[in-house]
Amino acid sequence: MWHKLDVILSTGKFGTQEGKRLALAQSGFRSEIRSLFKSLAGSFGRAAAIGLASALVAVPGTARAEELNVVATIKSIHSLVAQVMGDVGAPRLLVGGAASPHTYSMKPSDARALNAARVVFRVSEEIEPFTRKIVASLPKSVSVVTLADAPGLKLLDKRTGDTFEAHDHGDHGHHDHGHKDHAHKDHGHADHDGGTVRDGHVWLDPENAAAMVREIARALSEAAPEHTATFKDNADKAIVGIDVLAKEIEAELAAVKGKSFVVFHDAYQYFEQRFGLTAAGAITVSPEVQPSAKRLSEIRGQIKALGVACVFAEPQFKSKLVATVIEGTGAKAGTLDPEGAAVEPGDGAYAALLRNLAQGLTSCLGT
Ligand SMILES: [Zn+2]
Repeated sequence: MWHKLDVILSTGKFGTQEGKRLALAQSGFRSEIRSLFKSLAGSFGRAAAIGLASALVAVPGTARAEELNVVATIKSIHSLVAQVMGDVGAPRLLVGGAASPHTYSMKPSDARALNAARVVFRVSEEIEPFTRKIVASLPKSVSVVTLADAPGLKLLDKRTGDTFEAHDHGDHGHHDHGHKDHAHKDHGHADHDGGTVRDGHVWLDPENAAAMVREIARALSEAAPEHTATFKDNADKAIVGIDVLAKEIEAELAAVKGKSFVVFHDAYQYFEQRFGLTAAGAITVSPEVQPSAKRLSEIRGQIKALGVACVFAEPQFKSKLVATVIEGTGAKAGTLDPEGAAVEPGDGAYAALLRNLAQGLTSCLGT
């Protein structure tokens, strides 16, 4: 309802003084409209009342159409949104700097930005737990797009249990078209409210990034139909860029395929499957969970036994854990940044994030 009225008024012909006055009276705006509608319906009949009420509601919509207010949660998807928006506007980034979506808590200014937004892009509740409460309480004028649900996006279940288990990765070679992926995806969706937890690091597969770009263009076009052609153009260009990037990374990583490595938190299975790598394990399943001393000494034993070449820390979780687990094992320490903590936000952030990952892997594993 609200959205349809938006479209009506973006033609601009309803920008009356009366409408502007009402638009200024933001609080109780909608109930004002409702009571106005009722009284008008009584005096002039229903059709006239609908016309007038639409005109009044249209005004704040016009203001939004001039400046398309868009918020994106984390750098990877903020970069994709910025590419699709192009010159139409700049999206606001929520989790900036070295903050991690896993542990982020919102500031009052974030809540205000979300309430004032026309479109909010997030990956999913799993990866951005801080969005859970606020999304439920946002006004209907805010359209929330959960990009992990984008059509064509490949979802994987979160890896659980002992991350050093000998997994059977035999199916991964043909994961692009295998039935296994469909099973994975359906499974993840069906069990969303049940036991299975989806792995939220979906952006680390460039094909998923392309699916998200398409969904971003769709959602932005719905919010600002006058820019549909621009969004489509920008999305097409972004997808071409992502394809080129993926090929570049694939070539770069060919040199380190088959090398054994351990990561800090289990963020990489999308990247691993796409580029044919396999992490031997993770120090922690979730970065908010600190492993025990017993667990660390188990990991040290496994690193030795498996002949792990590199153990990767992450910039935003500065800890001595990596130094502790590689002690006396012969494994080297490297750094990987799956959430872009060290990446400058902006439209180039997505490519920078993936290139940094590839570079981090080859510089430690390739020597
Ligand atoms: Zn993560």
